[in-house]
Amino acid sequence: KDFRNKVKPNWCPGCGDFSVQASIQKAAANIGLEPEGVALISGIGCSGRISGYIHSYGFHGIHGRALPLAQGVKMANKDLTVIASGGDGDGFAIGMGHTIHAIRRNMNITYIVMDNQIYGLTKGQTSPRSEMGFVTKSTPEGSIESSVNVIEMALSSGATFVAQSFSSDLKDLTSIIEQGIQHDGFSFINVFSPCVTYNKINTYEWFKENLVKLKDIDGYDPSSREEAMRTLMNYDGLVSGLIYQNKEQKSYQQLIHGYKEDSLVTSDLNMNDDHFEKLISEFM
Ligand code: SF4
Repeated sequence: KDFRNKVKPNWCPGCGDFSVQASIQKAAANIGLEPEGVALISGIGCSGRISGYIHSYGFHGIHGRALPLAQGVKMANKDLTVIASGGDGDGFAIGMGHTIHAIRRNMNITYIVMDNQIYGLTKGQTSPRSEMGFVTKSTPEGSIESSVNVIEMALSSGATFVAQSFSSDLKDLTSIIEQGIQHDGFSFINVFSPCVTYNKINTYEWFKENLVKLKDIDGYDPSSREEAMRTLMNYDGLVSGLIYQNKEQKSYQQLIHGYKEDSLVTSDLNMNDDHFEKLISEFM
């Protein structure tokens, strides 16, 4: 069960995305998955390259569309473990509509966002996660827009699994990804993954100083949505660990009629000429 392949990542040395790659590989192996049983679907951005760096099925999609693709893959082949990934620009700007609806749909997919609070591939512009006042080439006088609190967004969109981790904490990140894959429903995992080249504010050191581990908060209960919201507000969203999990709510897969019996990739579609013509005639 080796999820490594021979492709050498071309991320900058020190980029947080290396740890996300290693954690996905380790988590999948720890769970006992096989490479041919996993599909990794990515969007566009530095982080989008990850689907080419892991030995599994992979699809490097288009900007902001990792989740529609991942949902299509899961619907067509229910037996695959489907992981979607991308960056904060990909998932929280152009792809935000898909993110919210995928969360509330609750399909059995794990979505991992490499959140570096900047657009790295296009050489350093503000993203929806950049803090107000953040100076970049696109905001030389500082960003005048608020940063979106994605964890609160996920919770208020009906998420059943919400976690946050940090590239520098490989052990926690691997464990969170394992839990996310094993969750029966949509798991949303935001990973602070520093861009060492363009973001000189939210660095590894900055996160080490500012991030609070939920396991260090006495009695924190991830089954309570209210407690999750309260804690996020108290710490301004800068927490790591399992924030919320609802094990009771049924996944899309459990609720959709006929899904358990059928899988598109193994179905006999019987699409002979008669069927095709009948189908077309219904639209004429
Ligand atoms: Fe990573 Fe930033 Fe380099 Fe992109 S530009 S590979 S996000 S360090």
